[in-house]
Amino acid sequence: MKEKNMNYDVIIVGSGFAGSTLARKFAEDNKKVLIYEKRNQISGNMYEETLDSGIRVHKYGPHIFHTNDKEVFEFLKQYGEWYFYEHKVLGKINNVLVPIPFNFKSLELLFPKEEADEIKNKLLKKYPDIQKVSILDLIHDSDKTIREFGEFVYKNVFENYTAKQWNIPISEIDKSVINRVPVILGYDDRYFQDKYQFMPKYGYTKIFEELLNHKNIDICLKTNALTEISINDNKIYWKDKEYKGIVIYTGEIDELFNYKYGALPYRSLDLVFENYNMNYFQSSSVVNYPNEEKFTRITEFKYFSNQLIENKTTILKEYPKKYDYKDDSSIPYYAIINDENLEKYNKYYELVKKVPNLYMCGRLAEYKYYNMDAVIARALELYKKVGNKNEKSK
Ligand SMILES: Cc1cc2nc3c(=O)[nH]c(=O)nc-3n(C[C@H](O)[C@H](O)[C@H](O)COP(=O)(O)OP(=O)(O)OC[C@H]3O[C@@H](n4cnc5c(N)ncnc54)[C@H](O)[C@@H]3O)c2cc1C
Repeated sequence: MKEKNMNYDVIIVGSGFAGSTLARKFAEDNKKVLIYEKRNQISGNMYEETLDSGIRVHKYGPHIFHTNDKEVFEFLKQYGEWYFYEHKVLGKINNVLVPIPFNFKSLELLFPKEEADEIKNKLLKKYPDIQKVSILDLIHDSDKTIREFGEFVYKNVFENYTAKQWNIPISEIDKSVINRVPVILGYDDRYFQDKYQFMPKYGYTKIFEELLNHKNIDICLKTNALTEISINDNKIYWKDKEYKGIVIYTGEIDELFNYKYGALPYRSLDLVFENYNMNYFQSSSVVNYPNEEKFTRITEFKYFSNQLIENKTTILKEYPKKYDYKDDSSIPYYAIINDENLEKYNKYYELVKKVPNLYMCGRLAEYKYYNMDAVIARALELYKKVGNKNEKSK
């Protein structure tokens, strides 16, 4: 689809959850919206494609929806059917597949019975009323048994996986990240404990098609918005004329300013899909490989889509690698959050603040790790600020 109307109230760069949520909200408020999307398809990193076998795969890595935010789930429910799905992950540790996050079952599978019983008893005594404990607390515990158990989990589940993912020594990993790695004090083997855990019945792409299906929304695919939009003297230009409407930008902030302060670094991934003539390749949707292998995890998509396709399955192996902003085929997946990079980001953001009606939203524009629910919540919040109320705070 091309732009039809030259009088757009809002121009949105990017059709992931950040851009598409805002597009819908503005459109329902009777604003004319134009979306630019560089790729040949909508949906950002949630894009799902159907292979010749009929199997639906997540082209940019596995995406599982989970949230405690009722408003976000109520918003999404309007655009398609969702089915209840609780995510479970296994990890290959010492050649045994055990539940991840590490729980009592993992403990029993990897330790001799007597030792496992002793650790479980000590943990329950020390933490009688909680469901999970941070690995950081365990490795600093005063009890030697608990401490050594914590060190085992740290070394076998967390350390190598994290080093592979980020390619930095573990000593440089922020303590807050380590603090989020839990050990479950019981047998709950769900990966997430959120109140709402669902997958879209017909895939994420269908949800996006519905979300953007509105008479006030036009979409330009395969168009880098920065061929049409530029910032000059703190003003927005669109098609070489000053543009007075609202611009919501969800792409890379450094690209918007032509890398003036240098490129913001990201980790990227080589995503390798493999097809097999068998019903299932593995016993869980995701198996983590923290240690020996070069990839971090294998995802088998049939578990997500509940598709009854016999003797065929597709898996995905993820190999972490560096992102190269000069290479068009390289994809920025994870922002590398540290003081130096945040300082660079803030310099770019100072430029944004000077431009009236220009707003940043989403994982690339805000240089943040957002889960899907958090990015939708952020888009809904931004809409409340700049949309119907016309408050101009960023
Ligand atoms: C491997 C991986 C797995 C993940 N798994 C989960 C999960 O299981 N659950 C979960 O909740 N979250 C998950 N996430 C996070 C989730 O992907 C993000 O929350 C989501 O992508 C954020 O949406 P967004 O709109 O900000 O960005 P995106 O989805 O990346 O959308 C940005 C869009 O803007 C377009 N664009 C950029 N620049 C331009 C330009 N100049 N012109 C035109 N178009 C442009 C891009 O092509 C893209 O389509 C995962 C992330 C990764 C990397």
